[in-house]
Amino acid sequence: MSSHDGSTPSSDPSTAQSSQPSISMSSGSRGRTDLAWGHCREAPELSVGCKKTKLVCLYCVKVFAGGGINRFKQHLTGAKGEVEQCRKCPPDVRHQMLISIDI
Ligand SMILES: [Zn+2]
Repeated sequence: MSSHDGSTPSSDPSTAQSSQPSISMSSGSRGRTDLAWGHCREAPELSVGCKKTKLVCLYCVKVFAGGGINRFKQHLTGAKGEVEQCRKCPPDVRHQMLISIDI
């Protein structure tokens, strides 16, 4: 009599890959924790041939070719400068950005 039927459960811990969606902390310790990242997106499709990835405002879809997240933040807050203030940014978001800049 054999109680062992050969169907061994294939539980190999080394092949268990944790595929977590959209949590990409790409080892960049520089500024990626900024709140403003939540209000723009990177547009690699618009950045062909550019060294820097362009940013696109999620509200007014304005494209930022340079200046990085700080330039975009000025856009949200309407800080005086060379950047046009976002016209579609919700007031509470703008307020949030102003607070985060003050820190
Ligand atoms: Zn905008």
